[in-house]
Amino acid sequence: MTDTTLSDLAAGTVVKPGDAEWDEARAFHSGIGEPTIVVRASSVDDVRAALRYAAAERLEVMVRGGGHSAWGAVPGGVTLDLDALDSIHVDGTLVRVGGGATWGAVAHTLAEQGLGVSSGDTASVGVGGLTLGGGIGWMVRAWGLAADQLVGAQLVTARGDVLELTDASHPELLWALRGGGGNFGVVTRFDFRAHELPSVVFATLAVTGDARPVLRALRDTLQDAPRELTVTYMDVPEMDPSAPGGASITACWIGDDEAAARAALAPLLALDGVTETELAVRSYPDILMEMPAADPDAPMPGFVGGNTLLRDLSDDAIERLASFREANQASVLFLRSLGGAFGDVAQEATAFPARNATWFAMAGAFDIPGLVHDGNRPLIQAEWDAIEALGEALYGNFTVSTDPALVERMYSPETVARLAAVKRDWDPQNLFARCHNIRPS
Ligand SMILES: Cc1cc2nc3c(=O)[nH]c(=O)nc-3n(C[C@H](O)[C@H](O)[C@H](O)COP(=O)(O)OP(=O)(O)OC[C@H]3O[C@@H](n4cnc5c(N)ncnc54)[C@H](O)[C@@H]3O)c2cc1C
Repeated sequence: MTDTTLSDLAAGTVVKPGDAEWDEARAFHSGIGEPTIVVRASSVDDVRAALRYAAAERLEVMVRGGGHSAWGAVPGGVTLDLDALDSIHVDGTLVRVGGGATWGAVAHTLAEQGLGVSSGDTASVGVGGLTLGGGIGWMVRAWGLAADQLVGAQLVTARGDVLELTDASHPELLWALRGGGGNFGVVTRFDFRAHELPSVVFATLAVTGDARPVLRALRDTLQDAPRELTVTYMDVPEMDPSAPGGASITACWIGDDEAAARAALAPLLALDGVTETELAVRSYPDILMEMPAADPDAPMPGFVGGNTLLRDLSDDAIERLASFREANQASVLFLRSLGGAFGDVAQEATAFPARNATWFAMAGAFDIPGLVHDGNRPLIQAEWDAIEALGEALYGNFTVSTDPALVERMYSPETVARLAAVKRDWDPQNLFARCHNIRPS
């Protein structure tokens, strides 16, 4: 390994304002960024050179995995694009994945071998950001978070050292990488333990009428359901004729046992207003959603609301969530079942918060002029804040805010202190500040 500098890197690796590829290089999923430069790394040496340059120039580093977070919008700094580090090697059930790979590519490669790793629901989302922040997806009750399957990593530190991490060699760093975000270095390779996954049963149920009895039945059903079953509930407004609104339950059963999936869903299908629109055995890559990048000329509106990890989906929480959706015409309500393998992991075993949570809830009113305005914004926010107060913690990956104060709502004070100690050891200058930032203690 050599001490290369940016000027030694291959043509096209460094992209600056005015270069032909500048607009393409600074684009991220929901917009166009304004970094100082972009380094498109295709090797560990490129990563080291970028970090050395950033440290010398006192520039913060935005590590870009799949580019789906809001950090790409923060101006200045070095965007370190890992897109080319997208290798996927399968060795038995050990899967070594480059730091810039996406979950769709991982799912496709693993499916060829009858394997799967718990990821998120969207193909283009990066392995990097999703795993480091936790990663909640269709296998969360069967296998836990994406981060729970992380057994090792290759990490380039702020000093440019290249570490091979295992629980035996660097237990505290790996603990921090499982939920503590991108604070601790550049992960150039993630090592996951995969599970057997021949296929899944995927079902969609349309929901009409009052949400309250449906949500109560959903809660009661999931309380005793086999952990093979994970469900989401989503109620969205009609945005345009191509995106019809309405409420639905989506369910994923791990494995190909259609009869077992149908039996687990039977209490829901017996409800008034719930009808089956789809129930079929599918391959896991096939159920991952495609979510095209935003059109920079027509960006998605922001939303007033938030998310929370709920210990119980109590009647009170259901009432508040349903009322929030009803009171705000252009709002979205999303719930996902947790528990199962997610809750088997001891709280102190990873940096991820609220292992006692049984549901994840997210709600927000789209910030559309005429619907949300200065007069009602505080009221909507207060309605959400009352819901968040029922929860245990905020899930950082599902917030589009880069407000540093969010960290205190994401982790307990003990976890913040423990993360800050790891940060002090490995990034005392806070080079990796473009994330839900843990300041070195
Ligand atoms: C359409 C969409 C669908 C989503 N679905 C889900 C879902 O189903 N489940 C879920 O849990 N979340 C989901 N999310 C949230 C998602 O987990 C976060 O947005 C996550 O940050 C995206 O990771 P990324 O690598 O694509 O983003 P990036 O913006 O590239 O990275 C986010 C941050 O992660 C860090 N980072 C990324 N890669 C590395 C690396 N290799 N080394 C070090 N640091 C790194 C950096 O700090 C960076 O600022 C979704 C988001 C979107 C936009």
